[in-house]
Amino acid sequence: MRSLSASELLNIWEWGRNQPSWSKAIKLLASACSETSIDMLTQLSLGQRDAMLLTLREWTFGSQLLSQVTCPNCGEVLELNFDVADMRVASLSLEPAEKYCLELADYEVSFRLPNSLDMIAIAEHTQPEIAQEVLLERCILGAVSDGECLPFQQLPSDAINAIISQMALVDPQANVPIDISCSTCNHQWQSLFDIVSFFWAEIHTWAFRVLREVHTLAVTYGWREADILAMSPRRRQFYLEMVAG
Ligand SMILES: [Zn+2]
Repeated sequence: MRSLSASELLNIWEWGRNQPSWSKAIKLLASACSETSIDMLTQLSLGQRDAMLLTLREWTFGSQLLSQVTCPNCGEVLELNFDVADMRVASLSLEPAEKYCLELADYEVSFRLPNSLDMIAIAEHTQPEIAQEVLLERCILGAVSDGECLPFQQLPSDAINAIISQMALVDPQANVPIDISCSTCNHQWQSLFDIVSFFWAEIHTWAFRVLREVHTLAVTYGWREADILAMSPRRRQFYLEMVAG
């Protein structure tokens, strides 16, 4: 994986405006990992995918993660400041996701972890219960009870819940909780860190800023967009300060 140039990032932003989250994630990684096939990227577990996106985010915008949340209790807008290292709960790995086995009291279940292909498959299902059922049907590879194979639909809900918990346990980067505490009312709650939407929101803000900078420099100096984008941010900033006087 390598970092993305300003021009590449702008092209991805332009392409991705109306794309679903999984598609944006794969596009970013495919652009940064030309040595890895799209097939392989889409088969990474969501945690493996997100670990790579977190690294790409760090290379693009640095190690600080700034965000705003509204306290659900008092409505105060809070500034959150994290480090990429705080959000990294699993090491970066490109090994194909394995098959896992879970032994429960009456059942033995084998499963694999959800990946981007599963996200594509469930995208059309707007009802969460149906989407979860389709996802489990794809990811549960086999269930055995008393030596007999069972379709996953015959597993009781506590077995299903145990499988979902085990999936989260072996792929922690797919669900990174953030503990938030309100400085005004002391309310405490937990939120999930979604690297795809976080990174994309930053790319969106960045793209608007860079396009305005390109506009200013192009109008002032007559330079081409490609040449302005190829400049380092520092050099671009220098010229912008000259223009502002
Ligand atoms: Zn509060």
